[in-house]
Amino acid sequence: MSRFWSPLAASLVPYVPGEQPKDKKYIKLNTNENPYPPSPKVLEAIKAAADDDLRLYPDPTCDTLVRKLADYFDLSKDQVFVGNGSDEVLSFAFAAFFDPAKPVLFADITYSFYKVYAEFYGLKADLIPLDEQFRMPLGLFNGRENGGIVIPNPNAPTAMLVPLDEFRMILEHNKDQVVIIDEAYIDFGGESAAKLVNEYPNVLVVQTLSKSRSLAGLRVGWALGSEELIDGLNRVKNSFNSYTIDRLALAGAVAAIEDEAYFVETAAKVNATRDSVIKELREIGFIVTESKANFVFISHPDVSAETIFVQLREQGVLVRYFKQPRIDKYLRVSIGTDEEMDVFLEAVKKIVSK
Ligand SMILES: *Cc1c(COP(=O)(O)O)cnc(C)c1O
Repeated sequence: MSRFWSPLAASLVPYVPGEQPKDKKYIKLNTNENPYPPSPKVLEAIKAAADDDLRLYPDPTCDTLVRKLADYFDLSKDQVFVGNGSDEVLSFAFAAFFDPAKPVLFADITYSFYKVYAEFYGLKADLIPLDEQFRMPLGLFNGRENGGIVIPNPNAPTAMLVPLDEFRMILEHNKDQVVIIDEAYIDFGGESAAKLVNEYPNVLVVQTLSKSRSLAGLRVGWALGSEELIDGLNRVKNSFNSYTIDRLALAGAVAAIEDEAYFVETAAKVNATRDSVIKELREIGFIVTESKANFVFISHPDVSAETIFVQLREQGVLVRYFKQPRIDKYLRVSIGTDEEMDVFLEAVKKIVSK
């Protein structure tokens, strides 16, 4: 606490990202980064942009990237907004669309940044409990007073996917509210709600380059939605920082979207590794949720999650443990390369067989 802090700063409970330790080399399975490097074309594009003209501000409208994404998703450029990582896009969306007079709805077990944003913007939250198997109870989002809804699909940290068609009901029942679908992990086996954008003016689909395109370090995310929603996001952005995407990020992001073949290949590799890791974990007694993400959510009936977490860390393998009600028996493990996952599996086998 400092006497220099505003009442707002003093009231905040900031998000705590997974650790990025520097003390030694770890196998990092704790922040859902992609184990494969980005497309080589991304690096070429960034180098060319660095040689170009960093003296000048970037294009505040990010026109080349917006058009590239519009083409990719078969939308118009007025239906696309880009930002400095999807975290920023989400934060702008909370500010632009959620009505402080009514609670925002999100699941009790979900991406913990939603709570942080709600508090930052003075929004009340009404938490919708996942069922015992961690399924998203979509019916509970209907007929409940709200000033907006946010649902990640697949959900984090449970990794579970809701089939696209099931979102229609929520969108129909909440026509006067914005429903944000956070698709950070959609490319690992789900179907995007991007195709609902022309049908429902109240849906905002948020995606990122961080996970499926191996560019967590570049900080680029986007939102797809009706023209009026995109206008709302631009109003917020332009009241804050006109240049959220720098010249290097802009060039890299365009190249990443263009290299579809590389993206499809790496996502398929991650998915194949995930499916074989799930099989092996179940064979040694783990409970593993049905994952359609680049991570798995696991629990062992005999050995506590905290014990496994601590012992893995000692052996140089980092995973994520959330000391929170309902999920404190679980670990979230990002999918690495086959070699990394072999080291993880060997270590975990020893820990649970002791
Ligand atoms: C990783 C993640 C994000 C944020 O990604 P950015 O790196 O900010 O684009 C958003 N939502 C969920 C659910 C995530 O797991």
